[in-house]
Amino acid sequence: MHYHSTNNPAHRVDLKEAILRSLPPDNGLYMPDVLPVLGEEFWENWRDLSFQELGFAVANAFFHEDVSADALRDIVDGTVAFDAPLVTLGPGDHVLELFHGPTLAFKDFGARFMARLMAWLTRDDDRELTVLVATSGDTGGAVASAFHHVPNTRVIILYPQGKVSGLQEKQLTALGGNITALEIQGSFDDCQALVKSAFLDRELSERLNLTSANSINLARLVPQSFYYLHAARQLPVGVDPTFVIPSGNFGNLTAGLLAMQLGLRVEQFVAATNRNDVVPEFLRSGQYSPRPSVQTISNAMDVGAPSNFVRMQALFGGSWEKMKTRISGMAFSDDQTRAAIRTVKALRDYEIDPHGAVGWLAAQQWRAAHPTSATITLETAHPAKFLDVMEAELGANCVEIPERLAILANQDKVATLLSADSAVFREWLQGLIAL
Ligand SMILES: *Cc1c(COP(=O)(O)O)cnc(C)c1O
Repeated sequence: MHYHSTNNPAHRVDLKEAILRSLPPDNGLYMPDVLPVLGEEFWENWRDLSFQELGFAVANAFFHEDVSADALRDIVDGTVAFDAPLVTLGPGDHVLELFHGPTLAFKDFGARFMARLMAWLTRDDDRELTVLVATSGDTGGAVASAFHHVPNTRVIILYPQGKVSGLQEKQLTALGGNITALEIQGSFDDCQALVKSAFLDRELSERLNLTSANSINLARLVPQSFYYLHAARQLPVGVDPTFVIPSGNFGNLTAGLLAMQLGLRVEQFVAATNRNDVVPEFLRSGQYSPRPSVQTISNAMDVGAPSNFVRMQALFGGSWEKMKTRISGMAFSDDQTRAAIRTVKALRDYEIDPHGAVGWLAAQQWRAAHPTSATITLETAHPAKFLDVMEAELGANCVEIPERLAILANQDKVATLLSADSAVFREWLQGLIAL
């Protein structure tokens, strides 16, 4: 299979280059030349497959020309090593818990798959790989965990100073070893722009053998399609889900679109955002106006220039009319989100994290207008990752902290402070070449 740039269909590369380079030199994003479809045979018995078997079928549809079935099965089994249970809160009101992995957010799926696929693609190389990643909170922890101790690989994580939760910060800064954390004096968008600037510097990028672990990387998107199938088959036969996706960079939503493209029946997608509502606004008006992000209590969605937007557009052939018939956009304030956390606890005795709460609000709004719909809201992170917000609404000790998070609290933060200046950042990277 070949992959092309969204900016130039004639710029085509193979799988290894699309994954390791992450970003085409023309600043577009890679898309597969052919979007795979799972055949009728698959859809005859897909409901009986295990989560791992579903994952293999999806991954194989994308990668069978380039990765042997045995290798791919190992990669998928290593990725899907924990469940994603569907929890029913009320009639038609379902929540898909994606936080049962090692770093308690859905990003474990993408990061674990990418680490394994990259290791396989570079199995005969002897150059050290440098993985660069900007994080608004959860990506960095998932990537750090997935790549920790991977030989011949160095990981550099950029995160915005003071804009990630305390425990999220520990997940980035306490591992050590081949993981280096850079605390950037700026926003997540600044971090993302710094990463881009390093890639666009061809010489630096070549010399450090740079690769990106952000959701612009296709290897993160494909495994996120797995759980759309896993969730949908848990509804009664004949019920097509409406997926509600709390969104920031829109990687998760794009993965849902890939699942639909594979043949999954979906009633609708609902893009739920906080006040960073560039995409809901676009769906309403047809005007796309990326802008600086604003800080909210659902910090992993504080994105003002969503990196997967061009992929979403490409999947709809650039047509706003087509996109808005399949995706509905809704945005909510922090006050509404806080009220939702309290309501879900009071009515359903369920602790929903601030990101899931944004999604839950959108799900209520959707079902109010479409009473027969079944919504599946993606619960993207465990509430313990956002203790300060949860305790402010529900009181002290309202959520149990999983042990794998609790042990981090006592470990030391190690990070390098840098200004959000691309010249400063590139100079810091230059320093690595000498090492
Ligand atoms: C990353 C993240 C999101 C946003 O996901 P995108 O794929 O960037 O849209 C939502 N919630 C949580 C908890 C996250 O970590």
